Amino acid sequence: MTQIRKDIRALSLEEITNWVLAQGQPKYRSKQIYEGLWNKHVTSFEQITNIPKLLGSLLEQNFVINTTQEHLRQKSADGTVKFVFEMHDGATVEGVLIPTTNRMTACVSSQVGCSLDCKFCATGYLKRVRNLAAYEIFDQVVMIDRVAKEMYNIKLSNIVYMGMGEPLLNYNNVIESVRKITDPNILGMSAKRITISTSGIAKMIEKLADEDLKNHLALSLHAANNEKRSAIMPINDSNNLEMLTNAMQYWYHKTGTRPTLEYCVIEDTNESEDEALELVKFAKQFPCKINLIEYNPISNATFTSAKSSKIDAFAAILENHNLVVNIRRSRGKDIDAACGQLAGKND
Ligand code: SAH
Ligand code: SF4
Repeated sequence: MTQIRKDIRALSLEEITNWVLAQGQPKYRSKQIYEGLWNKHVTSFEQITNIPKLLGSLLEQNFVINTTQEHLRQKSADGTVKFVFEMHDGATVEGVLIPTTNRMTACVSSQVGCSLDCKFCATGYLKRVRNLAAYEIFDQVVMIDRVAKEMYNIKLSNIVYMGMGEPLLNYNNVIESVRKITDPNILGMSAKRITISTSGIAKMIEKLADEDLKNHLALSLHAANNEKRSAIMPINDSNNLEMLTNAMQYWYHKTGTRPTLEYCVIEDTNESEDEALELVKFAKQFPCKINLIEYNPISNATFTSAKSSKIDAFAAILENHNLVVNIRRSRGKDIDAACGQLAGKND
């Protein structure tokens, strides 16, 4: 019977050490293996050249290194680059490189598809196939960083978990990927430059606050009225605005960092003056920043973005109430790389 070999990158350094010792090999070998995997990004055991051949073949007999491949790359007129990554089992997810004047941001996926059915999001119309492993999230960052350096000669400055999937429904792997990205011995990026975006799983927001990772949090709000939010985001039925208020207050209390509220301004859906005032009321309950996002049309739904002038008027109402507001214009629209447009159309 052939045994299914486990991906070695699912093991901690300690677990690799135990395995190395069990093979009668000296302890320091585990560090060499770990460094090969996480610093040199080897894709086969042969590439770990500082260990004896025998140990290399023992590794080969017991483990695999699942690799992530770049399946497709598209460049937008505005410099945004969209990637389709293929996992070892053929599953595909998308990632995006977004260069702006002072940032080089990678947008990464956390799941293959999404189990939530937000009506305005292309990923919401896909089935959730599986969670990504921590190393599959990590691989996206490494690969996008490589391209940022090749194309723009600048390394990544920011990471946003805003690709496909709901990060807080793949909690352990997402946390582990943040740990690897921020580990000073691995990628050493600052957690302050990592934003986890969630559709709002209240319990998990509180759990994340307790981790003390120092990452930034964004809540995809899009409506500050339960009835309206439930209509476009069914997750609101079980995680309503009152629960989210508690979770966001807890987040601020525990981490001392202001979360961002993301709000797509959608024509005839959430852009009236009354709706702006509902948002004011919600946002006043805890310190936060608000990102008003231009809505990107998707083929599965008929929503359209509010006009620019309407978005400005909406922002003015928030500002008049002393809220901090940013308007985010869309990037990479011509290649379906913008928020909510990731749906694996290129297969
Ligand atoms: N599942 C997480 C992260 C991925 S979605 C979440 O929902 O937060 C990343 C962001 O894109 C979210 O704020 C989401 O609400 C937003 N988004 C989804 N569809 C969009 C669209 N068509 N136009 C603009 N933003 C969209
Ligand atoms: Fe999933 Fe986020 Fe899209 Fe909602 S907005 S369907 S949670 S990816």
